[in-house]
Amino acid sequence: MSSRIKPLSKDVVNKIAAGEIILGPSNALKELLENSVDAGATQIDVLTKNGGLKLLQIVDNGCGINKDDMPILCERFTTSKLQQFEDLKSITTFGFRGEALASISHVARLTVTTKTREENCAYKASYLGGELLGGNSSIEPVAGKDGTVLLVEDLFYNVPSRLKALKSGNDEYARIVDVVNKYSIHINNVGFSCQRQDGKAQVDLMVRNGMNRKDRIRNIYGSEVTNNLLEFDIESLEGYGLIKCECAITNTDFDNKKSIQPVFFINNRLVVCDPLKRAIMAVYAAYLPKGHRPFIYMSLIIKSDNLDVNVHPTKREVRFLNEDEIIEYISEELDTKLASLDTSRKFMTRQVLAPKKPLGDEDFAEPQIKKPKLNVSVQTKPKSLDQMKKLYEHQMVRTDFKQPKLDSFLMKAQPYTQAKILTQLQPQTQTQGHSNEILEMLDDEKEEGDYEQSPPSSNGIISTETHMVERTPVDLASIKQLRYEVESRISPELTELFGKHTFVGVADYSRRLCCLQYDVNLYLVDYGSVLNEFFYQIALADFSNYGKIELTKAVNIKDLIKEQILNNTQFETSPLTDDELQDLISEKLVDMSDMWQEYFNITFEVSENEASLKTMPLLVSGYLPCWSKLALFIYKILIGVDFSDEQKCLAGILRQLSLLHVPAMSPERNEETLSNLENLLFPLIKKKFIATANLAADVIEIANLPGLYKVFERC
Ligand code: ADP
Ligand code: MG
Repeated sequence: MSSRIKPLSKDVVNKIAAGEIILGPSNALKELLENSVDAGATQIDVLTKNGGLKLLQIVDNGCGINKDDMPILCERFTTSKLQQFEDLKSITTFGFRGEALASISHVARLTVTTKTREENCAYKASYLGGELLGGNSSIEPVAGKDGTVLLVEDLFYNVPSRLKALKSGNDEYARIVDVVNKYSIHINNVGFSCQRQDGKAQVDLMVRNGMNRKDRIRNIYGSEVTNNLLEFDIESLEGYGLIKCECAITNTDFDNKKSIQPVFFINNRLVVCDPLKRAIMAVYAAYLPKGHRPFIYMSLIIKSDNLDVNVHPTKREVRFLNEDEIIEYISEELDTKLASLDTSRKFMTRQVLAPKKPLGDEDFAEPQIKKPKLNVSVQTKPKSLDQMKKLYEHQMVRTDFKQPKLDSFLMKAQPYTQAKILTQLQPQTQTQGHSNEILEMLDDEKEEGDYEQSPPSSNGIISTETHMVERTPVDLASIKQLRYEVESRISPELTELFGKHTFVGVADYSRRLCCLQYDVNLYLVDYGSVLNEFFYQIALADFSNYGKIELTKAVNIKDLIKEQILNNTQFETSPLTDDELQDLISEKLVDMSDMWQEYFNITFEVSENEASLKTMPLLVSGYLPCWSKLALFIYKILIGVDFSDEQKCLAGILRQLSLLHVPAMSPERNEETLSNLENLLFPLIKKKFIATANLAADVIEIANLPGLYKVFERC
């Protein structure tokens, strides 16, 4: 006989709901902490027995609860923080669903003692199963201070299965301390304490109100962390809804092999955010020695409309709009930060910038930079004479990107339409070689901090998509060797310069010279050479993971080369017969089309001995190769690349690929080039370029501000 469907009793429903929110004592504590912070407390004291299972008490000096609200305090969906659905969108306090106290009262004995500033005494009431024990008349006036004492006793006394599933009191206590620790790092204008009373009392955290973040971190994680701590803000990205991003993270010298869970707060709520964690670990993997682990504290404020906190009942996992873009942006900023540290450390050991050539060097005689332009850029608002005097003029540096630059009045370039871009894979940070390490880093941390038996991805509630593009791992020794070779050629001084430069403008399009400012100096830079190195590095870093450019019309290779190279008197080429050209095309392109496709996204359409080019790699999203060099690119590959040796062959192709992307020289001002340099390429160079020593000759200091000011003083 089949049994009939019956509704579950209210009590069971409530217990199930409670179990989803209150997974263990530390979840209960987190909710209570958040309530206390919402209540404006400046001191919060936590006391536990048996890991919070026997007793969990939290005392705050917040606003207290109105006596009249006490009867409904523990009913589900009662809250003082949310009146309408619309409020959900703009709510900024921690909790907002009115479920925490209700849930706790279904799985524990709850006693509340509370006093508002207006009352003369405190009131005390006990709750069970969502209801006030003993009815309204049981609310008892007692002596008490302003604020609230929440006492949770015998947690899960009525859910024996949950009780069994929990670990020992010691483990639960460790989780509690962990939660209080993290909130104490985040909220600096509240004093916190946390203690246990099992046998004798033991205090595990004691920070006073107003103690700064660094000191709190030292208190909890030790001075090894704070000695290597960097505190900084990442600039907001309001267009994507990132309003604020505060960081306190360890530098690349932090010598630590223990894994420390990253501390993430999103909109002031302690959360886990696996995609962010993965991305940050990937950045660190490139800087830390194998097996070393960073400490990370990050607090993001996301536009509240963009936040979805309801993906997880305990609100520990959140989702937000533009997550990919924001995470990518944060990783890039972090990468830049770590890269600058890495080089500045080496920078200290040497004194001067290497590439100082005297002015008027034969290659670069008469730089076409107009000195007075510098003057224009130094000051924004006219100031009174007195104020002017206070400024140390020789130290004024134009670093504000909003200030005028050479050529900045030009129109923006029109988009180039010869090709259609199909796939756009952003160039990634150079993390491939470390992917195993990242996995290790993540694996390490699996056992910690989670009550769920199964990982979140498999419980159907949350989708933990990987937000980084899946990459084909590169196992070729030759590529690894080439990457290593780039790193070994690094010039820390130049890398610092490029990492912190301000793009001033193009000085000469025909010789490909531009001006960069770094510190108080102005440099004339051969952007042809620099971009040649830069595109080579991108090509190498993203090897076999490029995006794809599909040509709207396949280009017949033989015709292209004949037309543009062989019949072009401008090139002095050794004469190739038609047959020879044909053979080279079949041998080096068609016969190897698998390689071209797999490694370079270069594909051909082959029919009756004719090969046409169909697709090309996309190295930088939004930037196309210099099509006028396409014929030369293929020609050089056919005759100039050594295919007998893997490393030489790949290096040769990567070089040609890079040259293909360097903007062509142009006799006059070229707006497209300017826009690409200023808005796309140099910003990328600033973020991720490893400047190599060979570029020393391509960067010349042409002026420094102190020097210029001295000259002006004499006038
Ligand atoms: P929520 O925080 O989502 O509103 P809770 O169940 O956590 O729901 O709390 C219910 C209500 O009880 C809160 O809205 C708040 O008005 C009140 N409250 C809870 N804890 C405190 C506290 N420590 N101090 C003052 N008011 C509190
Ligand atoms: Mg709450």
